[in-house]
Amino acid sequence: MAKIGINIATGSLQQQEMIVGIDLGTTNSLVAIIHPESKKPVVLKEFDGNALVPSVIHFGEAGTVTVGDEARQYLISEPHNTIFSAKRLMGKSYNDVRDHASYFTYKVIDDNTESLVKVQVGDRFYSPIELSSLILKELKKRAEHILKTQVTKAVITVPAYFNDAQRQATRDAGKLAGLDVLRIVNEPTAASLAYGLGMSKEETKTVAVYDLGGGTFDISILRITNGIFEVLSTNGDTYLGGDDFDHLLIRHLAEKFGYTASAIMSDKSLFSHLRQVAEKIKKELSEKDEFTGIWMEKVFKVSRKTFEDLIQPLVDKTIQCCKNALADAQLDISQIDEVIMVGGSTRTPFVKASVSKFFNKPVHDALNPDEVVALGAAVQADILAGNNKDFLLLDITPLSLGIETMGGLMDVLIPRNSKIPAKAGRQYTTQKDGQSGMRISVYQGERDLVRDNRKLAGFTLSGIPAMPAGLPKVEISFLVNADGILVVKAKELRSGIEQSVEVKPQYGLTDEQVEKMLLDSITHAKEDMHTRALVEAQTEAKILLDTTHQFIDKNRSFLSAGEREQTLGAMNLLQKLVDTGSKDEIQTAIEQLNEISRPYAERLMDHAISTAMKGKKV
Ligand code: AMP
Repeated sequence: MAKIGINIATGSLQQQEMIVGIDLGTTNSLVAIIHPESKKPVVLKEFDGNALVPSVIHFGEAGTVTVGDEARQYLISEPHNTIFSAKRLMGKSYNDVRDHASYFTYKVIDDNTESLVKVQVGDRFYSPIELSSLILKELKKRAEHILKTQVTKAVITVPAYFNDAQRQATRDAGKLAGLDVLRIVNEPTAASLAYGLGMSKEETKTVAVYDLGGGTFDISILRITNGIFEVLSTNGDTYLGGDDFDHLLIRHLAEKFGYTASAIMSDKSLFSHLRQVAEKIKKELSEKDEFTGIWMEKVFKVSRKTFEDLIQPLVDKTIQCCKNALADAQLDISQIDEVIMVGGSTRTPFVKASVSKFFNKPVHDALNPDEVVALGAAVQADILAGNNKDFLLLDITPLSLGIETMGGLMDVLIPRNSKIPAKAGRQYTTQKDGQSGMRISVYQGERDLVRDNRKLAGFTLSGIPAMPAGLPKVEISFLVNADGILVVKAKELRSGIEQSVEVKPQYGLTDEQVEKMLLDSITHAKEDMHTRALVEAQTEAKILLDTTHQFIDKNRSFLSAGEREQTLGAMNLLQKLVDTGSKDEIQTAIEQLNEISRPYAERLMDHAISTAMKGKKV
C-alpha cells in the first residue's frame, strides 16, 4: 500500500513518491511531473505525442464509459450522453447556470433550483464531482501507464475565481478518483511558477496572467511577495474563447460559400465540417498570412487580416476585462511587471500583439500555452514533496477541520492543506422554535460523517434568546494561529452572545494516524458520498415533516377532509422512508408531499394577500 508520510510541522511529504500536477481544464486536461533526471517540469505524453486529454465523457449504451479523444467523437452524434465542460457545473446550482442552459446539449437537472446541479444520462444522474472524477481517473490511469508506477498523489489547478464550494468539489472529485489531493492551486499561480516567477524568496512582483482557452477567458492579477501568491483581482468572461473565433469564421465561410444561417444550423454534418475547416484556418493563420483551401472543388482564400477584423471585437472585450481587473486591483498598467500567456487561443498572433500593446511590454510565451498550467502544477507538487529545498514552504493543516451539522455530517470550515495561519467562518441557525442552546462539536478528518473523524472539542452556546427556528444567526469561526492552535468561536449575531474554545489539533496525533485517516477517506470516498446524500435527504424530509405538521395544525379550516387525509398519508409514507428508504425513495416522497400541499398552500397565500388588500383603502 502506498505510504503517505506527512511531516506535521511542515506539511511536506517525507517519502519520495511521484506527485503529479494536473490541469483539470474545461476543454482539455493534462498531467505533468518534474522529470527525475532533468529536474525540469514535463507534460506526460502518450506514444502518439499527445498530452491533451479532451475533458469529454461518453456514456455508451452498454454502460461503457470513455473519456478523452474517443469520447469527443460522439459530441455531435450523441449529444445527450456525451458530457463536455463539466467544470462549468462544479459547485453550481441550476440557478447559477440557467442563463446558459442552451449551451449544454445534455440534460442538466433543475428539480430544485437551490440544490446542486446533476446531469442526467439515460436513467442515471451524475453530479459534476462524479463527472470530473471520471476525467481524473482517466488521467491517473494514463499517468500510471506512462510512468509505470502507481500514482496516488496530485496537485490540481482551479481558476482563481473558484469559490470554496467549487474548490471543495474539485478536491472531492480527486478523492473519488482515488487521488490524494495535496493542494488545490490557482491556475494563474501555476502559470507563474512554470515561468519560474515567485521562486526566489526576496522577489516582489506583480503579474498579469491572460488566459484565453477554447471556451473561457480569465485575466488574473497576482502579487508575489517572498514566495507567497496573492490574487489581487480576477476578471473575464466564462463564455468567450477560441470556439467563438471559430464561429465567426464559420459565419464568414457560410457567406462566402453561399449558405444561409438557417441552412448551416439545420444541417449537422455541414456545420461540423465547416467547424473543422474553420479551426484549421484559424490555426494555420497563426503561422501564415494567408490560408488557401478547397471547398466543393473550388479554391478559396482567407487572409490573416480578414480573420483579425472578424475577431477584433472579441479581443477588445478581453482587453476591457484587463482594464477592469487593473482597476479592481487599484493598479496602473506601469505597475505590472510581467505578463503571462496561457491557453491555446493565445497562439493567435493578433491576441498576443493586442495584449502586449495594452500592457506595453513583451509577454511570456516561451512555454506551450496549453501546457503551462500543468507544468506549474508539477513545480508546486515538487515543492510539496520537499524536493525544492530553497523554496519557502508554508505550514499547513494536515487534516480538515470542521463541525458536526444535522444528521451527523461533517461540515468542513478549514480544508486540509490550508496554509496557516488560517481563518474561516460560516453562519448556522437553529432547527427548533425557541431553541436556546446550540451544541458545537469540532472534528478533524476527511470523512463525510463525523463519527468516522476525530473529535477535538465540543461546547454549547447557551442563552440564545427565544426566536422562531431559522431566525438566529450563529456565526462559527475557526482560527488556526501560527502555532497551530485552533480557536473556535460561536457568536449569535442578533443578541451578541458568544463563547469560544481552544484546541491543539495535532496533539497526540502521530504521522501514522494522519496517514491512516487520509487513506481511509480515499478508500471510503464513494460510500461516504452516498451516505452524505442519504443523510441530506433524511434531514430535508424531517424538516419538511415538521413544517407540514405545523402548517396543517394551524390552518385546519383551509384544508378539505380529502386534502388532509392525502397529506397525512403522504406524511406517513415519508416518515417511514426516513428511517428505511433510499435517498431516491425519500426524494420522491418529498416531492409527492410537496405536490399535495402546493394547492392549499397557494390558496392560503392568495387568501392572505386578498385579506391584506381589503384592509387597504385604495
Ligand atoms: P485550451 O482550452 O487552452 O486548450 O485552448 C483551446 C483553444 O485553442 C481552441 O479554441 C483551439 O482552437 C485554440 N488553438 C489551438 N491551437 C491554436 C493555434 N495554433 N492558433 C490559434 N488557436 C489555437
